[in-house]
Amino acid sequence: MSVSTDRKPKTFFVHHRLTGPQRAEVDRLSISLRHLPENLSSLTMTCPTCKTVFQPDWFKKHEISMIPVKPKFETGRVPYSGPKRWILQSISQVCPRCKTHIQIPLPTNEMTTRGSLFGDDAEREHEGRKVSVYSLVGADQALLPDFEMKVGKLKQGLLPAISPESWKIHMKDIWAGTNRAKHPVYHSLNLEDVIGFVDQALALIKESNLFVYNIALTTDKGNPGGISDPNGLRNEAYILLVLNAIDEWTEKSAQPSLFFDSEKYSQANEVIHGWARDTFRGSQHSLLYGFLSKGIEIPEPKFVSPASFPGLEIADFVSFTIARFHDRMWKGKEIEIDPVRMGLVTYLGYDSNGDLLCRRQEGYPWEQFFH
Ligand SMILES: [Zn+2]
Repeated sequence: MSVSTDRKPKTFFVHHRLTGPQRAEVDRLSISLRHLPENLSSLTMTCPTCKTVFQPDWFKKHEISMIPVKPKFETGRVPYSGPKRWILQSISQVCPRCKTHIQIPLPTNEMTTRGSLFGDDAEREHEGRKVSVYSLVGADQALLPDFEMKVGKLKQGLLPAISPESWKIHMKDIWAGTNRAKHPVYHSLNLEDVIGFVDQALALIKESNLFVYNIALTTDKGNPGGISDPNGLRNEAYILLVLNAIDEWTEKSAQPSLFFDSEKYSQANEVIHGWARDTFRGSQHSLLYGFLSKGIEIPEPKFVSPASFPGLEIADFVSFTIARFHDRMWKGKEIEIDPVRMGLVTYLGYDSNGDLLCRRQEGYPWEQFFH
């Protein structure tokens, strides 16, 4: 078959025949997603052939990744380095009844702004229960310099004698008296200093109009169900939080760059974490990713050295606050740092049926989430 040279199609149908290594990569990746945002769960397709109404398969692993693709060459053989991308317009799925191929159009928003989100994690265990916590904190790029300056001032206020860049906020060591006493920087602080610092950090988060996301997923050894593998739980918490933030930002035509603190895993300056990369790349082969990213290119989340961005330190604070909240509630003890004081936060968690809930509110939705 030949194509006439004067043909100028507006839509390209790409036959994505994979190379050997590409094939191996697609085979290796898996899609660990199993939760659908509420607005997508009502979306249905009608088969043009047999009129069957069905839900698209959101989690099926497609051969093709849903990410925008950079053109290889300029005119001639000059490698292309500009901002233009090929954006996937539709994806084919088969009717579950008559197996007709049906094109599902993908949403495409044009990016108008960028920003950054900073992530950190925490864990707590109590009497066979374990909670995995991730938090993301961020802002539009126009607001980041002001936010970072405020974090610097907050730190300067706690330890005026030393440069705020020379140390980092790590709440687990600041809060606990025994850790604090042994710490090279925090040992001079007393409980009053720490409480004053916490008050100011909570006020900063509330007043800075940040995007704050949190996910806390609990496993219970005595009540298995849902995900029992702790790594599975961590992966699921990570990818659910990342995709939720991507969905919200691309809805506003914004591109988020995501940065996570790599401290717990490596001292390397920038580390590629196999599991996070595979979880993210795997998700990109699902129809769900096409709908969540809306044709906006999302840089792969980066794992960077601790406190290389002030946002990472505030993410540490948020994860500590939520992890400790679980610990105190489980033990029936008084809550010293109430999440309500952080203001509006998007909270994700499971209900007792294992369904994912998303609540944007002030205060932790303890009653609604499984813990
Ligand atoms: Zn059909």
